[in-house]
Amino acid sequence: MTKKITIAIDGFSSTGKSTIAKELAKELEYIYVDTGAMYRAVTLYAMQQNYVSINHFNTEALINDINNISISFVFNETLGFAEVYLNGKNVEKEIRTIDVSKLVSKVATISEVRKKLVLEQQDMGKNKGIVMDGRDIGTVVFPDAELKLFMTASADKRAKRRYKELLDRGDSVNYEEILQNVQERDRIDSTRKDSPLIMAKDAVEFDNSDMGLKEQFERIMSLVNDKIH
Ligand code: C5P
Repeated sequence: MTKKITIAIDGFSSTGKSTIAKELAKELEYIYVDTGAMYRAVTLYAMQQNYVSINHFNTEALINDINNISISFVFNETLGFAEVYLNGKNVEKEIRTIDVSKLVSKVATISEVRKKLVLEQQDMGKNKGIVMDGRDIGTVVFPDAELKLFMTASADKRAKRRYKELLDRGDSVNYEEILQNVQERDRIDSTRKDSPLIMAKDAVEFDNSDMGLKEQFERIMSLVNDKIH
């Protein structure tokens, strides 16, 4: 008999957190929640309402409208993971564009946004059996998670991964722009006042600059097995 646990995965942008989280959730038959997708969906909403753009940022308007934002996840059988919905519409593709990436970290500094999303995340994980990835999962959302991982990799490796991901999707992007975005998001995420990206004291650090998915998965599964048996 195994016990259900909470697995918190944090780390810098494009360190492969969601890839490993999805694999773990599949293997363990756990729920997987990509919290970055939730911050991205709020950002997309703020862009659609013209509250934020590259040239202006109306925090107050977004805060006043925050109760009209509804985010949910719907499992897609074909893809094998849950896609994110904003007010009932599938926005999985729209939230991954470079335009959203350029604004999301600033939106994520707003405490009212964080408070709303953290409560929703805690609710999704109340019965354990969950793998959640983000920036503050082991520190703020689930400080009592049984297993906490902190992923790192060199900025260049991370930007190359994100670049390839966007190219594979058919987006026209340039590498320098991606590298700059990855570094800028890390800077904002690590220095914000509310819930900055830091490694929880009891997290296990994984530098996967030169580690393949298979090796990472095996190492992490052995940590999981120690916790669930
Ligand atoms: O994980 P992803 O790169 O999609 O996250 C996008 C952004 O959302 C991050 O750069 C960060 O600003 C914000 N975020 C956050 N807290 C989380 C997850 C994401 O602040 N738990």
